[in-house]
Amino acid sequence: MVQSSVLGFPRIGVLRDLKKANEAYWGDKLSQADLLAEGKRLRLAHWKIQKDAGVDIIPSNDFAHYDHILDHIQLFNAVPERYTSQKLDPIDEYFAMGRGHQKGGVDVPALEMVKWFDSNYHYVKPTLQDNQTFSLSKDPKPVREFLEAKEAGIHTRPVLVGPVSFLALGKADRGSSVDPITLLDKLVPVYVELLKALKAAGADSVQIDEPVLVYDLRPEIKNAFKPAYEAIGALGDAAPSIIVATYFGDIVHNFDILPAFSKLKGIHVDLVRNPEQLEPVLKQLGPSQTLSAGVVDGRNIWKNNFQKSIALVQTAIKALGPERVIVSTSSSLLHTPHTLASEKKLPAEVYEWFSFAVEKVKEVAVLAKAVVDPEAVRAELDANAASWKSRAESSRTNDPKVKERQAQVTPEMHNRKSPFDSRYAQQKTHLKLPLFPTTTIGSFPQTQEIRVQRNKFTKGEISAEQYDDFIKKEIDLAISIQDELDLDVYVHGEPERNDMVQYFGERLTGYVFTTHAWVQSYGSRCVRPPIIVGDISRPAPMTVKESKYAASVSKKPMKGMLTGPVTCLRWSFPRDDVHQSVQCQQLALALRDEVVDLEKNGIFVIQVDEPALREGLPLRKGSERDAYLQWAVDSFKLATAGVEDSTQIHSHFCYSEFQDFFHAIAALDADVLSIENSKSDAKLLKVFIDEAYPRHIGPGVYDIHSPRIPAEAEFKQRIQEMLQFLRPDQLWINPDCGLKTRKWDEVKGALTHMVNAAKYFREQY
Ligand code: GLN
Ligand code: ZN
Repeated sequence: MVQSSVLGFPRIGVLRDLKKANEAYWGDKLSQADLLAEGKRLRLAHWKIQKDAGVDIIPSNDFAHYDHILDHIQLFNAVPERYTSQKLDPIDEYFAMGRGHQKGGVDVPALEMVKWFDSNYHYVKPTLQDNQTFSLSKDPKPVREFLEAKEAGIHTRPVLVGPVSFLALGKADRGSSVDPITLLDKLVPVYVELLKALKAAGADSVQIDEPVLVYDLRPEIKNAFKPAYEAIGALGDAAPSIIVATYFGDIVHNFDILPAFSKLKGIHVDLVRNPEQLEPVLKQLGPSQTLSAGVVDGRNIWKNNFQKSIALVQTAIKALGPERVIVSTSSSLLHTPHTLASEKKLPAEVYEWFSFAVEKVKEVAVLAKAVVDPEAVRAELDANAASWKSRAESSRTNDPKVKERQAQVTPEMHNRKSPFDSRYAQQKTHLKLPLFPTTTIGSFPQTQEIRVQRNKFTKGEISAEQYDDFIKKEIDLAISIQDELDLDVYVHGEPERNDMVQYFGERLTGYVFTTHAWVQSYGSRCVRPPIIVGDISRPAPMTVKESKYAASVSKKPMKGMLTGPVTCLRWSFPRDDVHQSVQCQQLALALRDEVVDLEKNGIFVIQVDEPALREGLPLRKGSERDAYLQWAVDSFKLATAGVEDSTQIHSHFCYSEFQDFFHAIAALDADVLSIENSKSDAKLLKVFIDEAYPRHIGPGVYDIHSPRIPAEAEFKQRIQEMLQFLRPDQLWINPDCGLKTRKWDEVKGALTHMVNAAKYFREQY
């Protein structure tokens, strides 16, 4: 018998129920008992979905009210003292670490939160002390939730984050210098105790996630697996059987670690990302070990390709026999929306191509049957084949005109006409910019009024003309404020944009949008990425109307504002039937037309934002990363190189750590880069001198995430620091990022000080 398993299920519920409950609790509108009851209801509902679908191995402890790594911090009593000393209820202490706590005389900030591998999910970083101790919390959550499921008649496999990943993903607290991995000896006994407790509660198997196995690991971390898993393996029958799970990459480069798992039941690998690791992994398994084959994508929304998955699983069965193979999701389904059944507005044709979490769970169960007895699931197999055929043949997927245009892309199309020096000479006379030019990153406050009008327009309560008039008034307002502030390069303020990717997606062919397909980003925050379903093209200009109007009423250069090809791709669900580089090039060609159209309409400064460029970086150094950087950079260049030398191309990134891919940033050949810097060390700018970066840079001079208005002196000091690392003729003065989340008073206050500081330095040089 081949078993089916799921590594984890989304937590938020059909209608973002968990978000609503958490936020109501935070706002004192829901009692603690009701909040916990809602968590329990969601867990039971999710277990039942999987049981009804026929999944053999159903996860528990995959649910979290905020984040599963945060759960483990509490589980191991690894909560920093600044939280424990507040003597809060456990759930409040938990939320205090996740999001800070400012209530009843208590004021503690949140722990640091960072991206979970290359996904858009964020986890709370374990934050550890020099004298860190660990112990098992009272009433441990994995045991409690296992028993909760058991009571409901559902036998589950608890999921734990493994000791090596827990430590490797952590950091020393401020004031401490401990390397977290050196705490392994103290942590492993807690796992031993926990595994015994799970066994005593009736668990016969446990999934231990060690996702760091897909990284390049430093020796200290590599060497930690052996002691950790020998101690765990030595438990024998005193612990449940254990599957070590890895995902988001291959583990071939870490095969020398695998002997550490020789006493365990087996390993799980991601065969969606790296199907080629199957054969080598099969050779590495011990004589009785099991392979959990991750063939149903936990990161995307596409229906599984049964034919492909069956072939992979059959290869495993041939090597190991059916008893030693488990069919599984590639990773937790945390990164997929809840159910396709909620989507009532998708085109019927397209609807058939998708599979969200509820549907993926069924796919896993069907696949496990199909590999043993295809006739038992013949109808499902036929329907799947028909769906893939319809998708492959659809005119929505294939646009010969787009392909033809891609075939005609030449290397020269990626390059500006002249090198930067001569471009800049022309831009200088054309744009008449002073030294230390001031500008902003694009958006101005998205007020309540803007949201109300946009909503009315979407619902058809006001006409397109009325809405256009409203947008024009907003642009007028933004321009009159920039006049008062005496900025040098203006923006129109982006009042017409709901979201920097969705706005463009809605104007491009090849995209579809969902109404309920939310995915957790962090805590209660969810995103609803648009979906790329087919070849992308631009039927008409997307931003020209607003920018042209803005330029017509402004006396200074107006900056056009676009979202770059890589960011459009990364913040959407991409297609899985063509390589991402192909999709990115299609986006680039669409944006190239937009850039050229903006220029034709009198916009001679154009900013193409690429905040997602770095997060797309493959997890390991090497050929995959090099290839990514090549096509990502090429896409940006293709999008922007169609203009005259006298037109100035800007780009923007929301970070300033460029150390590991500086050459790629330089290769973009953007005339001006604006980057986040106000919360980072100005020393990060040193790389620009070290590498003799010739072009212009605007490192953010203040933090736009805070309502605080910095004093003029602070701006001056920040600029002075920057001048240690950048040439005066190369420095632009701008905020860290767009101002859409701020209030107008805050914007005016801060920008007044910013412009004054720029003028002060202008006089000095
Ligand atoms: N132009 C965008 C804005 O100002 C940039 C947003 C971003 O970098 N995330 O809002
Ligand atoms: Zn930004």
